[in-house]
Amino acid sequence: MISQATIQQIQSRIDIIEIIGSFVKLKKRGVNYLGLCPFHNEKTPSFTVSPVKEIYKCFGCGKSGNTIGFLMDLEKYSYVEALKWLAAKYDVPVEETELSPEKKAKQQEADSLYILNNFAQNFFSQFLFEEGEGLEIGLSYLKERGFREDIIRKFQLGYNPASGNGFTSAAQKAQYQKEMLLLSGLSVERNQKLVDNYRGRIIFPVHNQSGKVLGFGARIIQSNDKAPKYINTPENELYVKSRILYGSYFARQAIDKADECLLVEGYTDVISLHQAGIENVVASGGTSLTPDQLRLIKKYTNNLTILYDGDSAGIKAAMRGLDLALEEGLNVKLALIPDNEDPDSYMHKIGAKAFLEFIGENKQDFILFQLGISLKDAGQDSQKKSAIVNQIADTISRLDKPEDFTRRQDYIRQVSQILKIDEAGMLNLVNKFIRERIQKFQQKFSEPQDFSATPIPETTGLDVIPELLPKDDLQERAFVRSLIEFGLKPWDEEKSVADFLLFEFDEKEISESFDNKVLLDIIALYRKWYDEGIQPTEKNFLYHEDKNLHSLILSVMETNVEISPNWKNFYEGHIATREDLYRAEVKGTLNYLILRKVKRLIELNQQDMENCTDPMDQLTLIQTHATLKTLEMQLTKEVGTVVYK
Ligand code: ZN
Repeated sequence: MISQATIQQIQSRIDIIEIIGSFVKLKKRGVNYLGLCPFHNEKTPSFTVSPVKEIYKCFGCGKSGNTIGFLMDLEKYSYVEALKWLAAKYDVPVEETELSPEKKAKQQEADSLYILNNFAQNFFSQFLFEEGEGLEIGLSYLKERGFREDIIRKFQLGYNPASGNGFTSAAQKAQYQKEMLLLSGLSVERNQKLVDNYRGRIIFPVHNQSGKVLGFGARIIQSNDKAPKYINTPENELYVKSRILYGSYFARQAIDKADECLLVEGYTDVISLHQAGIENVVASGGTSLTPDQLRLIKKYTNNLTILYDGDSAGIKAAMRGLDLALEEGLNVKLALIPDNEDPDSYMHKIGAKAFLEFIGENKQDFILFQLGISLKDAGQDSQKKSAIVNQIADTISRLDKPEDFTRRQDYIRQVSQILKIDEAGMLNLVNKFIRERIQKFQQKFSEPQDFSATPIPETTGLDVIPELLPKDDLQERAFVRSLIEFGLKPWDEEKSVADFLLFEFDEKEISESFDNKVLLDIIALYRKWYDEGIQPTEKNFLYHEDKNLHSLILSVMETNVEISPNWKNFYEGHIATREDLYRAEVKGTLNYLILRKVKRLIELNQQDMENCTDPMDQLTLIQTHATLKTLEMQLTKEVGTVVYK
């Protein structure tokens, strides 16, 4: 990574008019500059650059951002590339940051594993194609299964010799350390001797998105009751099962092109479909899909089609992950391969063309499919049937984004028809699940906390009385804005505003007071920079790597704050600006957060009082109530709100 100091140096030199002006002809128009948008075709200029705000915005196509974002969009640079381009332009020496010792160690471990895996993959492939045992046992087995040589090479399949430690001794000769061999899962220790873990097995390397080998699956050749059919790399710094989709490296372009991802269970399914020219296919390894895997798919397409054989255990596992897929907004379809076949064998049986036709004709909607299966399972059992109604309502309720509305209504109608139940009743049930999920979510963020450790700031002496309690979100934004806008100003003789906000009121307290968790990320980032000795301003955020942060910061900084008449009159003779009153504003936002917490504690304490039967405990609770009420009054006076309770 490029160090913050370098980024700051670059930032301080950027002249947005100069940079954008070297790509777009700009004319001054008032305080801004105007030109023809480089991102869309236009004849009259609607592309505006503001040198004051250091941002550009096109009123034609809506593109906007800062100088770095401009370079990233126009020149297709990465964030780092854009920074380096600017550094070169302004002669800023680029300084790379040091990783923490822990991160460095992990990085080194991952690097070593890559190198070792690469060595192993070469060894296994070479053995498969060049050694007697590899050819006679490994390659002949693969050919028997119908795999062509070009496809075996493409997927870099290999063979691990059956005798004790062929691979391990080769690796040790090549100076690979025992520790790494064990960590990679390629070798194991038997009777204090290091031996091969995948003896006599076909090796399937597992690649990441960019084709590097993360680990291996090793398949037994002769079936044997005692040994597992597959052994996989144990979890390590590289091989994290929940993030892996087998075949994604070879499938990504085809998925993009077809706008559909086919999901199968096993390595051989992926490979044989590829061989037949069906390349938009990945395997999940037969477990339920994880959020990471779903996100990986979503990078390429919104359409996921699952190809499983009807009675496999894998289908149940896959279905468990699918509620998540719906929440992620994926369209999930399912095509069942006929009994006693898997995608691999069925493809061989009927050929690629017929196979694709079969999928096209047989893929069904996942939710309706799930319903069909459950109904078949339930038979005439009425208890099981009502459980199904609940389950399907729960599933449909996951489609809870505004844009899912039509889909959700469609499902409710279809499902009611299939189940022969009242549509309005189904709608109510679905809504109930949506409500419950929202409630759970809210509870998660308003759990009771111990208030005793919180320091209570003294009153400002200012009589700040906004008329109504503003919305919580606005208050949270106001806190963040105070921090960014006034953080470096003095709070008192010793402390800055940032010192006061971040350290008087500690991290945990702040995080518990916020409903909007995204704002917390901003505070955490500010804290990190501040700790590192950087003096963060709005600019630091606007030039951050994460582009989502830019618009968030802009909206936070634009949050409109009404100055109450009392504030305005505070300075006699002239109207006080926010600048004059920054201490009051800082204090106000902080007090508001504390007040919110006190209110929650009062509610909680009241619940306890209602449930309490022990007189001594009751007394304690009443005393607590009184203390909290006093605190509430005091804070309310400071914040200037009226409590209706
Ligand atoms: Zn435009």
